[in-house]
Amino acid sequence: MNLVILGPQGSGKDTQTEMLAKKFNLERVNMGNFLREVAKQDTPLGREIYQYQNVAGAMVPSRILKEVLGIKLASFSREQSIIFEGVPRTMDQAEYFDKAVSESGRKIDKVIYVNISEEETVKRISKRWICEKCKKVLIKGKDIKSEKESCPDCQGKIIQRIDDTPEVIRKRLKVFQNETIPVIEHYKKQEKLTEVNGEQTIEKVFEGILAKLKDIE
Ligand SMILES: [Zn+2]
Repeated sequence: MNLVILGPQGSGKDTQTEMLAKKFNLERVNMGNFLREVAKQDTPLGREIYQYQNVAGAMVPSRILKEVLGIKLASFSREQSIIFEGVPRTMDQAEYFDKAVSESGRKIDKVIYVNISEEETVKRISKRWICEKCKKVLIKGKDIKSEKESCPDCQGKIIQRIDDTPEVIRKRLKVFQNETIPVIEHYKKQEKLTEVNGEQTIEKVFEGILAKLKDIE
């Protein structure tokens, strides 16, 4: 069983991925992490990725993404089930992704889309603050009452990451709408899409996903 999980930031897809990986013994493939890993290696490919990401500050081209994904897939036994996290994110990526997966002799069984509204995303992420000193993530309403308090662990100052301000979140959601929704439509046409409502408890979302995976086990 090979799965893809997609969803906007704050949808809780990381938690669901972790739970699914544990339950079905899935290997997690997170392209972002893997690219960073390869970029650290002193190989032609590693140096090329490093150049794009750290020197040019540019997106890694699809040709390289496909090569990296091919290497990753070849490192698993054919029987190993996989969950792909947050990839493909654009139609351009979907093209190389579908090719690399089929060239490895696999197929994608289901694409899980954890859907939450823009308002809910902003609400969830705006609650996230961090301690400037120890970098601990502090959830407003749970770990702290107000951002004016100091860190409960180290008394450091509490700040919001630039990435977590409502304007930046909305900007990222727009990118998701424009770039990733077409990918979701692409898999819907292939009848691989499973949509779950992410605005429920973690357990309910998980139950919803499991119910939809029943027919492929
Ligand atoms: Zn702290």
